[in-house]
Amino acid sequence: MKLHPGHLLPVIAALLLPGCSGPETQRAEYFVFGTLVEVSLPGAHPDESEALFADLQQEFQRMHREWHAWEPGELVRINSELQTSGASLATAELADLLRRAQDLERRSGGRFNPAIGKLVALWGFHTSDFPVLGPPPPRADIEALVAMKPSTLDIATDGRRLHCANPAVQLDFGGIAKGFAVDLAIERIRGAGLKTAMVNAGGDMRMAGVPEGRPWRIAVRDPGGGIAGRIEITGDAAVFTSGNYQRFRQDADRRYAHILDPRTGWPVPHVASATVIGTEGVSADAAATALAVAGPDDWPRVARDMGVEAALVIDDEGLMTATAAMMAYFTPERGREVVVVEYPGE
Ligand code: AMP
Ligand code: MG
Repeated sequence: MKLHPGHLLPVIAALLLPGCSGPETQRAEYFVFGTLVEVSLPGAHPDESEALFADLQQEFQRMHREWHAWEPGELVRINSELQTSGASLATAELADLLRRAQDLERRSGGRFNPAIGKLVALWGFHTSDFPVLGPPPPRADIEALVAMKPSTLDIATDGRRLHCANPAVQLDFGGIAKGFAVDLAIERIRGAGLKTAMVNAGGDMRMAGVPEGRPWRIAVRDPGGGIAGRIEITGDAAVFTSGNYQRFRQDADRRYAHILDPRTGWPVPHVASATVIGTEGVSADAAATALAVAGPDDWPRVARDMGVEAALVIDDEGLMTATAAMMAYFTPERGREVVVVEYPGE
């Protein structure tokens, strides 16, 4: 199968290893926001999966229409109404996600901030074609946006009604969309009465149940190439990775990551990838983005504040640091070392 080049590869940080699916596994693939989403149902019968797969197809298409950060649709309409009149009416689902995003932004100390759509656009990252070529945008433009401090917390919600007085706010759910998509898929799969599933959105994934009594096995990519190690996990889990090594802007002398530090308006330097294991996609996705922004020194504190126990960060020189909880699941490749970090005290 031909994969859309600018889409799938940039977000892969982990891949499903063979061995956790037998011949009876039912599979389906979808594109959501340009990412390939693979659903595997080990042990399921085609009678159980057929209607479910059609349902997922519809749900993913709907998400794509409603949530796309720059293609005309629901979110683009909301952003433009907030910008022009300071008010808009969202779907219940989007309003709920916004409230969750507000909580995650607060807990991340503003490192995860899905209101920085204007900055993301300014850097040219509202595109499907990577790498983006050329120098950074004018410094003055970046500074002007950062000075206006766009935040999801500027938006007041009353049910589905949104109000926002900050014209610099532009919602971009790129940092949690995959989390939301895999959560929604797992919920539908469970709703159909199935207990064992893997939903893999380009290396970000959620698992449910235990396939044939064996753990799920996930390879963690080394940003420098090859595999850094393996995660083995039984039962329900979400494994999400954010990296600054595949989607980027390239000029004559350097690369600029697609993950921005909302406090400076500049792409995050240094961290190459941050992997989080949680129980649910949205929070693991937001946390992985926040840890990538936090960087090599700050990430343990941000992980603690966001309630993340299992996290692994690989820096731009290949040095791996992880929490003790992560080491219960993660085995580095032979010859690779992991520095285990403590959470800082209160
Ligand atoms: P992820 O791959 O989950 O880390 O998400 C990266 C995407 O989220 C980017 O392509 C942007 O659309 C958006 N984004 C970039 N920086 C941030 C940030 N600091 N907080 C929230 N979303 C961001
Ligand atoms: Mg994320």
